[in-house]
Amino acid sequence: MKHYLGLLVLAGVIIVFPLSVSNPYYLNVANIIGLNSIVVAGLNLLIGYAGQISLGHAAFYGLGAYFSGILTVTYQVNPIPAMLLAMLATGLIALLIGIPTLKLHGHYLVMATVGFNLIVNIIILQWDSVTGSPSGFPGIPNLKIGALVFDTDQKMYYLIWGLSFLIIILSLNLVRSRVGRGLRALHGSEPAASSLGVQTARYKVKVFVISTMFASLAGSLYAYYLTFISPKTFDIFFSIELVTMVIAGGIGNVWGALLGTVFFTTLPSVLDVFDEYKDIFYGLILVVILIFLPQGVLVGIKEYFFARKRSSDKDIQADDGGRVFSRGSSAAFCPPLGRISPDRTDDGVILSVRDVSINFGGIMALAQVSLDLFEGQVTALIGPNGAGKTTMINVVSGIHRPTEGSISFFGQEVKGKRSYYLAGLGLTRTFQNNQTFSNMTVLENVMVGLHAKTGKEFISSMFHLPGTGREEKAIEQRAWEVLRFFRLEDKGHWSASALSFGEQKRVEMARALAPNPRLILLDEPVAGLNMTETDEIAKLICDIRNQGISVLLVEHDMNLVMGISDRVVVLNYGRKIAEGRPQEIQKDEAVLAAYLGSVD
Ligand code: ATP
Repeated sequence: MKHYLGLLVLAGVIIVFPLSVSNPYYLNVANIIGLNSIVVAGLNLLIGYAGQISLGHAAFYGLGAYFSGILTVTYQVNPIPAMLLAMLATGLIALLIGIPTLKLHGHYLVMATVGFNLIVNIIILQWDSVTGSPSGFPGIPNLKIGALVFDTDQKMYYLIWGLSFLIIILSLNLVRSRVGRGLRALHGSEPAASSLGVQTARYKVKVFVISTMFASLAGSLYAYYLTFISPKTFDIFFSIELVTMVIAGGIGNVWGALLGTVFFTTLPSVLDVFDEYKDIFYGLILVVILIFLPQGVLVGIKEYFFARKRSSDKDIQADDGGRVFSRGSSAAFCPPLGRISPDRTDDGVILSVRDVSINFGGIMALAQVSLDLFEGQVTALIGPNGAGKTTMINVVSGIHRPTEGSISFFGQEVKGKRSYYLAGLGLTRTFQNNQTFSNMTVLENVMVGLHAKTGKEFISSMFHLPGTGREEKAIEQRAWEVLRFFRLEDKGHWSASALSFGEQKRVEMARALAPNPRLILLDEPVAGLNMTETDEIAKLICDIRNQGISVLLVEHDMNLVMGISDRVVVLNYGRKIAEGRPQEIQKDEAVLAAYLGSVD
């Protein structure tokens, strides 16, 4: 509702503004704000949502302007096809930059885009015969669509702001969709997002390309509006200004980005009264915003007034039919299921790890370890600190590729497959160090868990194509069901970061369980929890097992391990030293020696 209201107010302001000002200067400023808002909307998707920083968007803006200008003036291409070609060419260049840099973890995009901005500026300055060098590129005609010529400030105003309005709608659609949650998830924790089915590298490249195409569109409009372009407009300082607009306005907030654009585009003119001290005041205002409202003006204000939005939404209807986890169906500790024998060694194997090894700089974290996981069983993986338990989970879940050995899941070789791919096969996990997405609500966290089970991508989400709303509803309904199972439904609208540590652990489990996986890997689910919370998690694991879902449990709490596991596998120094029923493991001499120290 609040977004519809916002769009309604914005539409009203856009329509009324030119009618209420007589000074053409204000219309000119409004047009520049509109152009910047198009670039910033794209940049906000990249920085605010996906968490990838670009310091080269002025160059993509410039590419749009120069491609369109050159195509129209030198090659007599009509403005509309020229603009589209410019967007395509810009997107292609962004793809070439994005694929190698965004596959890497860390802020390589910043370096690549800074370099790119400098290179583009040098090319524009040096390629005299094509770009007109420092003196600029004149004679660009006004934009023309059929008989309609956009030759006045007012006509350009409606065109620019019409497109800006459209891009804001597309951005809002995207950020409130499966893709938007995927982007925010990868911003929150890339490994966690990937373990839930988000193709993180691909998402980063796609959102980067989209943001550069928005910048290119704005650049083309700029060229046809001013009819003259010069390299100074597209230098690295403008890239920095654009990032400032995103961050200071409200990072990860479409309206905040718009507010930041209006504020920082007009600020230099407002500060003209301070003459030569203008830059000092500009810097001061920026510093004050960053210190007191580090999340940006809009997000800061919002958080101040609505620090914790508690759910009053208890009437949400969710259908408990189908394969939903049954609450309270298990006893305090797992009763044996009967239908599955802990000793079975042949059929019923869902995951088979064979002779897997991996080392890190000389440390043999896993040495030729083999283990089998059976359908509907809880298998515990235990061992002293540094034994290789988490490494095994990382190897099985696709975070590390083992140097030797094989891993098959339901008969399919999956060694070296990425986490998102495994999530699609029904293998999910939690993490030892809490990796809830703190930038999302509890409900949204669980909704991300359904990423691998759903399929609407960028185009469907942005244009809200048929079926998108239905999929969203189904995702939300399932997320509420899972939250109820985890007794978190009354905190569905809370920010995940506002929950207690124990609740965050439950959110992580809920997220991994949402897609009804066939196997879930739990890495120390009760570490740091008190006894009550531990009991609760124990019951949940039993319930999960009783649904036929297999569990690999890495845990140091021996009461929990011995109480709920069907089988136990023990590692020490990266090697498997024992395997069997919990009662057998408790008496195993090699295990006792590993934990208590050998007497020899
Ligand atoms: P804990 O119970 O303390 O969590 P663990 O059994 O899970 O221990 P792992 O985290 O798997 O042990 O670590 C096994 C060994 O591999 C340790 O010596 C660890 O330092 C090393 N190791 C694990 N991951 C890496 C990595 N990414 N880079 C370098 N060394 C690593």
